[in-house]
Amino acid sequence: MARRIERIVWHTAAHGRNGQAFDTTAAQIDQWHRERGWSEIGYNVVIRFDGTIEQGRDPRKIPAGVAGINETTYHICFSGHGDIAPLTPQQLESGIQHTIQMLHKYGLVERFLVEPDGLIVMGHREVNELVRRGLAPTPTTKTCPGRLVDMEQVRLLIRQRLQSTATVGTTYDAQAASELYHGLRQVYVAAAKLRLPDEVMHFLNQFRKQPEVDALIARWKREAEQAQ
Ligand SMILES: [Zn+2]
Repeated sequence: MARRIERIVWHTAAHGRNGQAFDTTAAQIDQWHRERGWSEIGYNVVIRFDGTIEQGRDPRKIPAGVAGINETTYHICFSGHGDIAPLTPQQLESGIQHTIQMLHKYGLVERFLVEPDGLIVMGHREVNELVRRGLAPTPTTKTCPGRLVDMEQVRLLIRQRLQSTATVGTTYDAQAASELYHGLRQVYVAAAKLRLPDEVMHFLNQFRKQPEVDALIARWKREAEQAQ
């Protein structure tokens, strides 16, 4: 019977020494966890420095990642040591993509988007916040996935990715997207002629960077290039 997954949890292998993080394999973690007397590796996947995803425990089984909430959680472990080095760019990208896939697979996209503070995607250490809210029984003293992994930033990146794909899926209108692009260009040209101050342009730049605007213009430019 399928488990009901409510959260995706990020971990670090906490594997390193003397300021150097190691590119841990799933096989190594599997070995360590068996030596502790566990049946097998506790995490569902391990993501290596180059972004490769190695399979861990079958997600249909109950994992061993965070005491007290294993039955309703999915666990991603990153090779290395999050207190010593940040995730590599490849790890971060792979971790974001895999997390988004799992949010889709377990029907959590909507909840993730409407509950910004819901910890639907969380770092292991954030179980302490769940304990505070009465949603988990056991606190932790770990920094996992590491002091150098900013979970707010991770959630923001996932949110932007989900929102930009959502926007382009349903209401795309090539003519309107073209007007948006050329209209913005005209505003920039006019603003330069009028020598509008940087503080004012900041707001226009902010508008341009919104995921919806960014996605619409990116799609329009891509399709315009293909049509040539
Ligand atoms: Zn952990």
